Amino acid sequence: MRLNIQLFAVPFHRVSKTRKRMRRAHMALTATGTVTCPNCKAAIRPHRVCPKCGFYKGKEEVAMKEAE
Ligand SMILES: [Zn+2]
Repeated sequence: MRLNIQLFAVPFHRVSKTRKRMRRAHMALTATGTVTCPNCKAAIRPHRVCPKCGFYKGKEEVAMKEAE
């Protein structure tokens, strides 16, 4: 008879509060940088077509749907 048992890695020692907190000290997320759209002044991510007005580098335009 074959036993259908999965074996997992088991921690040898309990991780202390300090060790856990030291590890998680590097897990914080940072806010993404934003620039101001020169056309509509919205805060947008850099090097991307503006999602609000469709402008990039002042003139290249992506046609936007009329938001009514
Ligand atoms: Zn814009």
